[in-house]
Amino acid sequence: MSAQPSGHLDKIQISPTGYAHVPGACVHYPDKPLEEAGWGWVHDVTANMWTGIAEHSPLRAAEGNTALSATRRCSHCARRIDLP
Ligand SMILES: [Zn+2]
Repeated sequence: MSAQPSGHLDKIQISPTGYAHVPGACVHYPDKPLEEAGWGWVHDVTANMWTGIAEHSPLRAAEGNTALSATRRCSHCARRIDLP
């Protein structure tokens, strides 16, 4: 999966360990449905939201496990996603 021309990502998935992943960009996924595995996710993420994920500016899950916030980007996903 690649970034949309608008610089938006359709969805970011947040692991219980606080990592943000882009669907299809890496292999760090549970072998059961995300909801069952306790993951959270956010739809329509802007390039700035993705690149801005950090300890001091976490991205909160909007669906699924909404208690989760991403504070780090998966390095595999970050390399795969080429945002403007
Ligand atoms: Zn990843």
